[in-house]
Amino acid sequence: MTNDNPFEMVKQQISACSEYLHLPQNVEEYLKTPMREIHVAFPVRMDDGSFKVFQGYRVQYNNALGPTKGGIRFHPGETIDTIRSLAALMTWKCSLLDLPLGGGKGGVICNPKELSAGELERLSRAYIRAIYKVIGPDCDVPAPDVYTTPQIMAWMMDEYCTLVGHNACGVITGKPVVLGGSEGRGDATARGGWFVIREAAKDNNIDLAKAKIAVQGFGNAGSHAATLGKSFGCTIVAVSDSHGGVYNENGLDIPTLVAYKQKTGSVRDFPGAKNITNEELLELKVDILVPAALENAINASNADKVGAKIVAELANGPVSPEADAILFAKKIPVIPDFLCNSGGVTVSYFEMVQNFSLDRWDEESVRARLERKMTKAYHEVYAVAQEHSISLREAAYTLAMKRVVDAMKLRGWV
Ligand code: GLU
Repeated sequence: MTNDNPFEMVKQQISACSEYLHLPQNVEEYLKTPMREIHVAFPVRMDDGSFKVFQGYRVQYNNALGPTKGGIRFHPGETIDTIRSLAALMTWKCSLLDLPLGGGKGGVICNPKELSAGELERLSRAYIRAIYKVIGPDCDVPAPDVYTTPQIMAWMMDEYCTLVGHNACGVITGKPVVLGGSEGRGDATARGGWFVIREAAKDNNIDLAKAKIAVQGFGNAGSHAATLGKSFGCTIVAVSDSHGGVYNENGLDIPTLVAYKQKTGSVRDFPGAKNITNEELLELKVDILVPAALENAINASNADKVGAKIVAELANGPVSPEADAILFAKKIPVIPDFLCNSGGVTVSYFEMVQNFSLDRWDEESVRARLERKMTKAYHEVYAVAQEHSISLREAAYTLAMKRVVDAMKLRGWV
């Protein structure tokens, strides 16, 4: 296995943290082992009448703290090791936020951009038919992730309810509000990230009212992060998507840019801004860099050139372990993914609570609860990092893994 294997990287991080926590070898081994994995292949009828076979996965990593929880990705480059590593990350994320949930993740190898709406619906339903026996509101609850949407969650929930023969809308979160989704789930990842960034800015003497921000990635997390920047007093000077980026040192008009991207399919050539590459965006001299796209955007080859004062990981795994070490040496704090982007799963948890209790909370109440959870988690992590002179990621790992290990011990597993 090379170092590029995402699950090998996760195992290295677990080893490092196990050493720090003085965990026995067998506990460490267990933490490195997914509890259950399912690999499925299923046919989908395409619009031209032909059938195509797709493959997918669901990994339930660890359920010591509660039902496994985590999104489903539709991505052409999906691999079992990516899913395993992200399922592990969900375990730490839920633990760190003190949610009574374990970690899981799923994925289907496909390119949703090449599928019609009908094909996408049939694929989503077929995937659920293939995995429905191992998921459920009490055992494993999927959600949106890369290239999956509330509409896809609605189809999946409907398919599951049909298969089990009763209403079980809590089987999945990130649903449209009318189907039992939670208010505030749409921008929860970005909003949660902003609560944490706001606290980190205070700790690093950065005045958000004067701060310049660059956001890499313009999907759900990235576009909402850019949109919410204004309400946190910041100026968004650069954003990018998979086609490239745009920059204006005085700030971009984000609502107009969102409409422009919807119309043209990209942020490139946005009037009044300069085109830049994704690489150039990462090197900008800004206060806060928010990588909100895919894994390893900041790696050994470009970490040295990062020009920001803080890196806030809104994507999962955007800073590789080598890059992490380089940024730590340069004294650039990295707010780790499983803290920074945990707003999404936190509001997913609120959605589960609402579904279990047949309740609906208003947006204000969701936001206030999210703010409390995120702020508390950030300060816990920061205090441990300060006390032991370790990075925020190491501190977050320590806190999150310790809770999972305590739960495993109390259950009598180890
Ligand atoms: N996919 C999101 C994440 O990586 C949300 C997961 C969830 O809501 O369960 O955190």
